[in-house]
Amino acid sequence: MSNFFTPKKCELCNSISIKYRDYYEELLSNKLNSIIKKSIFKVLNRDTENIGLKTYNMYVGHFLVKCLDCGFASIQPPLREYDLLNFFNSIYTQSKGTVLKPGINSLRAVSQYDYLIRNVPVKGINSLLEFGAAGAAIGRRIASKNNMDSMSVVEPGLNWHRLYEKYSEVHITPYSSLFDVPLKAKYDLFLSSHGLQYVSNFDNYFSRAVRLVKKGGFLFFEVPNRDDNWFKMKLNCGGHTVFFSEKSIENIAKKYSLRLINSATFGAIYGAKEIKLRENKFTEQIGGRYLRFILEKP
Ligand SMILES: [Zn+2]
Repeated sequence: MSNFFTPKKCELCNSISIKYRDYYEELLSNKLNSIIKKSIFKVLNRDTENIGLKTYNMYVGHFLVKCLDCGFASIQPPLREYDLLNFFNSIYTQSKGTVLKPGINSLRAVSQYDYLIRNVPVKGINSLLEFGAAGAAIGRRIASKNNMDSMSVVEPGLNWHRLYEKYSEVHITPYSSLFDVPLKAKYDLFLSSHGLQYVSNFDNYFSRAVRLVKKGGFLFFEVPNRDDNWFKMKLNCGGHTVFFSEKSIENIAKKYSLRLINSATFGAIYGAKEIKLRENKFTEQIGGRYLRFILEKP
């Protein structure tokens, strides 16, 4: 069946100043082959050829559409939910689900927590939902510091659900999909650490997230920073479906009627040699590879 879809605009700011590439070709030509196949797949001890081919197939007929105005990029038309979950389940959740570490004292969780307390009244948070949670390090850190009875997570990997029961210091209510979380469950904080770049349809997911937050509540995200520098270097896109620049965050705030409290980038700049030094991994600096942002729902 032929696919006549042609990208026409940025799905975030509606700009028609866009650039698009065939995402399937993109994956084949960039470093996914060498990096993901050789490292992750080898670690997993899986048949690299089979998984590799399946992975690529789901991207056929999809485009990586980048906005030249705000830098936001996404896969259009959206990937099938089932394929995407299947893919990330097989790659990430099965492999890393053996322990709940890195835990609430990991460098990333500590650094995210410090960033949050600089920007929002974290002590006042009594309910939270962590999306794409895996070990739920940052959510558990906030919940334990605030002596919360329970917290909720969205995590498609069912092996994690068993681990929450067994090891978490705070009671966790797990959901397999964001759309399983009842809309009446309103949270003080919706947060996600490296989850938002994997959703099949950004608008569906983000508008749902906003609806799940109380008035006066907050949304916090950490995602890879995909600035022009990153695109120029043609680095491994890892099968991600959404790509965020710092400028695009302002447009997210605008589109979803939220107040942007802060955005900042952390860690080494793309191409810099200091990436290997752990102490620089979460230092705030312009052009850093991790992008954090906090929004308030007025
Ligand atoms: Zn745009």
